[in-house]
Amino acid sequence: MTDRIEKVSAFVVEIPRETPYLGPLREGETINRRGYVVRRGNRTLYPTADRSVVLRIDTEQGLTGWGETYGIVAPEAVRAIVDDVLAPVLEGREPSAPAVIHEDLYDLMRVRGFFGGFYLDSLAAVDIALWDLLGKRLGVPVSTLLGGRRHETIPAYVSGLPRATLDERVAFAREWQGRGFRGFKFAAVVADDGAEAEIAALREGLGPQAEIMADLHWRHTAPEAIRLIRRLEKHNLSFAEAPCAPEDIEGIAQVARAVGVPVALGEELRTVFEWQPRLAARAFGIGQPEMGRTGITEFARIGALLHANHLAVMPHATIGVGLFHAASLQASSTLQRLPWHEYQHSIFEPNLRLTQPTGTRHMGCAAGFYSLPDGPGLGVEPSEEMLRLLT
Ligand code: MG
Repeated sequence: MTDRIEKVSAFVVEIPRETPYLGPLREGETINRRGYVVRRGNRTLYPTADRSVVLRIDTEQGLTGWGETYGIVAPEAVRAIVDDVLAPVLEGREPSAPAVIHEDLYDLMRVRGFFGGFYLDSLAAVDIALWDLLGKRLGVPVSTLLGGRRHETIPAYVSGLPRATLDERVAFAREWQGRGFRGFKFAAVVADDGAEAEIAALREGLGPQAEIMADLHWRHTAPEAIRLIRRLEKHNLSFAEAPCAPEDIEGIAQVARAVGVPVALGEELRTVFEWQPRLAARAFGIGQPEMGRTGITEFARIGALLHANHLAVMPHATIGVGLFHAASLQASSTLQRLPWHEYQHSIFEPNLRLTQPTGTRHMGCAAGFYSLPDGPGLGVEPSEEMLRLLT
């Protein structure tokens, strides 16, 4: 059956949330007129509502593929790229070669220096939708298209403890421990008493068996990070995430050589070309690709690259409506060295209602493990509620 892409549409989805991402606002943090707040701890801009960009591809034969990328800041930038650059190129094209199409779309802008940023985010959404479409057309999940599913369940670590005080954060982590979770990551950027006090309290509250990770949010110079991580190691830290600025490859490599725990990084990297210099510098021990930034084609290639270098993959999870998360579970399920997948409880659980399974089983996360959907394509598609939110 030959088919052609008829229409490519991007939608911005906004979902209000009670507590802002990274927890309640700190002293001196205010919401600006566009609804953003600058977190003082890492000087980074965050929205106060959950936002995402959903992408829909319709074919002449009546098939629909769904993709998604980041919409947390300037989602209209992605929509403009899709409408002006990508959709007209895609319309009329045979859709069943997602990796080939991804390379062609990358080529459109590479000599202008668009190796990342909003352009690659837009490509990620298109790529996910094309793999979804291909899976649906062949009646198999994306994991089958990628070479086969190795895991039906994936260990999930609890990411972020969005409570105002350290006591409350320890109690919150213990609640999750009571539900069967055994990995916990705290955000040093909102650890008001310092990262060492944070891990000491968590270790005492969670006991010796718990795995505790620290997200250092790119804020340290290499010497600062080395000193800090060495202190955290005494409390049996599992890994140190994003210790230095993302551009400081040599600094991060220096940290990786100097400390006794693996450095984790990569949520901000979109292509194998961005991973390669970090790999060459041996700057990390754990790669954290983010499906909403990479799309499925690059995610799989990054997974293969890390596999070839004997490095672990612990995929990142972020604010989204569930479509790129499902894609991440599909692609992750094919990876051999997959100790964890991040679990953003404050996003995944409330937003589950926005998707529905394409087969008989929905994705889920309980007792410390993700479970995968069994249907074709991504295994999930927008629910009626999400369709109403697409604007
Ligand atoms: Mg992070």
